[in-house]
Amino acid sequence: MNLSQLARSIAEPPTLKLNEEAQALKARGEPVIHLGIGEPKNKAPLGAILASAAALTAGDLKYTPTDGLPSLKKAILRYTEEFYDRAPAPENVIVSEGAKQSLFNALFSILNPQDEVIVLAPYWVSYPEMVKMVHGAPVVVTPEDGTFHPRLEDIKESLSPYTRAMIVNSPNNPSGVVYSEDFVGSIVELCEKRGIYLIMDDIYHRLVFDGVTAPPAYRFTQRSIDECKIVIINGVSKLYGMTGARIGWAVAGRELIEVMTNVQAQTTSCASVISQYAAEGALTGMQSVVESLRLQMQNNRDVVMEELQSFRGVRVVKPSGTFYCLPDFRAYSDDSLELARFLLRRALVVTVPGKEFGMEGHLRLSYSGSSKEIKEGVARIKWALDPESPNEIYVGDRKMIRDWQ
Ligand code: PMP
Repeated sequence: MNLSQLARSIAEPPTLKLNEEAQALKARGEPVIHLGIGEPKNKAPLGAILASAAALTAGDLKYTPTDGLPSLKKAILRYTEEFYDRAPAPENVIVSEGAKQSLFNALFSILNPQDEVIVLAPYWVSYPEMVKMVHGAPVVVTPEDGTFHPRLEDIKESLSPYTRAMIVNSPNNPSGVVYSEDFVGSIVELCEKRGIYLIMDDIYHRLVFDGVTAPPAYRFTQRSIDECKIVIINGVSKLYGMTGARIGWAVAGRELIEVMTNVQAQTTSCASVISQYAAEGALTGMQSVVESLRLQMQNNRDVVMEELQSFRGVRVVKPSGTFYCLPDFRAYSDDSLELARFLLRRALVVTVPGKEFGMEGHLRLSYSGSSKEIKEGVARIKWALDPESPNEIYVGDRKMIRDWQ
């Protein structure tokens, strides 16, 4: 095939195939339960709806500045002051088409070919692929003790003269782990010492449970935003449940933001103006929406933990944030892709194979849906896998019988 080798080497998103199969089953009327997708079910916040509707009604659908609507940037500056205790200048911020684009543009702007980027496992699936897309090399650091908390010594050992950046995601997709103050502090210190960019993917930073907080990286440096090499990535997708608005942003030193702005200008010009108004409406509107989402996710986390704890053989680390958990299913299978396929076909439950996150033998379960779905989903998984569970289960009014071992 006469296509780019690099482009062809980029992995298909792991959920795609399983989702297609799930859609086909759904279309046939099968009662599929989705524990795969990471997307809250809430309606968009009223502030977002009103602000974008006003822009539409005014018929004002023109390009915005590449780095974002000034009024949205102002809201992001205020947000950063409130949650990061830092006062960036407008030149320190760029608005993108989702946090994904901000991340990609940051990597594109930082890396030279062959430069290495430290990625902490379990990692969000897109990090290694994005690094490869800009001709870099991902270097994965995996915790060996099953805690999902990488060790500083292992990170240090993975550094080389080619290391240019490290990506840290806490609260973490897929494990739900929130890295400790000590750990984040040590990472900031390490990156500063070695002159490495520290990209903090904070997309879940306020979806935290039980009083745990995700400490902002800025807390651990004396340097200003322009002097330090910390890049903050955030957006409205998760905290405000606005995944389809596609608005994210980066906060970083102005030199990097300037280059990222040129990159964005040559590729997308700017993020959709309607979505930018929606994001501004979300950031400046009633903030209780974030708290109610957080409470709902904490409750869902409790539900999933309770269901999983009665599952002999499955071990799970209790998430302190996000809407995911990453149970260890190795007692049943070492091949997470096979297991996810099996569960979809036999139990009509969508999960995501841990292999895609650098954690083979695990499955990522999303608890962003309703507690009823979570309970039923886990019950079906248990029925399908645990030979000691009753071999009959009702799915709607259909009796399903386990006739495999
Ligand atoms: N980072 C992480 C860790 C994510 O889980 C996601 C979405 N799944 C993103 C970034 C992308 O966010 P956005 O929708 O703003 O592109």
